[in-house]
Amino acid sequence: MVIGILGGGQLARMLALAGLPLGLRFRCLDPAPDAVAGHAAELVVGAYDDPQALRLLARGVRLVTFEFENVPVAATDWLADHVTIAPSPRALATGQDRLLEKRMFQSLGVAVPAFATADDRAGLHAAVRTTGLPCVVKTRRLGYDGRGQVRLPAGADAAAIDAAWTALDHPGSGGLIVEQFVTFDRELSVIAARGRDGTVVVYPLVENEHRAGILHRSRAPAPDVPPAVVRAATEFVHAALQHLDYTGVLTIELFLRGQTLLANEIAPRVHNSGHWTIEGSVCSQFENHLRAVLGYPLGDTAMTGGGVATMVNLVGELPARPDLLGVRGLHVHAYGKAPRPGRKLGHATVVGADRAAVDALADRIGALPASRPGDWGFDG
Ligand code: AMP
Repeated sequence: MVIGILGGGQLARMLALAGLPLGLRFRCLDPAPDAVAGHAAELVVGAYDDPQALRLLARGVRLVTFEFENVPVAATDWLADHVTIAPSPRALATGQDRLLEKRMFQSLGVAVPAFATADDRAGLHAAVRTTGLPCVVKTRRLGYDGRGQVRLPAGADAAAIDAAWTALDHPGSGGLIVEQFVTFDRELSVIAARGRDGTVVVYPLVENEHRAGILHRSRAPAPDVPPAVVRAATEFVHAALQHLDYTGVLTIELFLRGQTLLANEIAPRVHNSGHWTIEGSVCSQFENHLRAVLGYPLGDTAMTGGGVATMVNLVGELPARPDLLGVRGLHVHAYGKAPRPGRKLGHATVVGADRAAVDALADRIGALPASRPGDWGFDG
């Protein structure tokens, strides 16, 4: 049985790596001839909205799923006419648009940061007056890993607002959205899977730390979170899954301020903050996504290995392979991508029973020297 995946990056690659032991095979579509899912799956090289490429992707597959949400509407429309797709186009449309996400959260009674939309330069000035400063200006569409957003500090003047408009206004941005800058205490994410029959499983709550807008470290279960907050996050994800009549893995990113949760965004797919589930859970987010979209029973989200996990992203450069492998207890995932500043090249996970010991082991990665060109053999 062949599963089609739109996108051929590391998420598609890890979906394939999770599905191969289940006897599944994979075909990915990606514009890049060196897309790294191609190491574990058949790769169709082409634009996402090229009907010929979509036809090649869809030929004979059981269904098509997605490794990212910024799929052109033309692609989902074409695919929906020709093959089963999951999650649904409606879920993808919501996940593509920060305004639709916020409206969904509000309709479910989930708090969001104060926000206002802007469709032109004058509208941006008005929106910033509404939210006040400091604030974060984001494109409604096509933003990720801190791209597509500009922070305006307290005291930002009219010229700074104009500069934000110039930096972010581009075809495809879908207009801008201004959010009040949230002085959160912590960032959390809740990851869950919903099967075709409506069964839901939820992973332990995750705490996330970012560096330069990119996820640096995820820890599960999020340490020292009051049970009421865990319960609220779990209720939010149940409500969102039901509202979207969702099939597959869904992630909600949250800000915690005091005891209050504010929803930031959803990801209608497997998520970087769930990579620890590969070794840290009985059934990983990748396997559960496949189980869900295929209509099989969902796997156990309970934690393995003593119940504590930490994942660290390897961004921009990798330590040398022997150095990484020399840290005993580290589960290393290198994606086969050529190094580039700000690029996610891999991650490493530690599982154990003691929070401080697990974090200390994961911290050792930061002290390792960078590899030299050629060390990994895929420097591009
Ligand atoms: P996003 O692309 O919306 O996930 O934003 C990337 C990161 O920027 C988040 O994980 C936060 O660390 C930060 N961020 C985004 N929105 C806000 C906000 N309204 N207030 C404070 N920090 C934010």
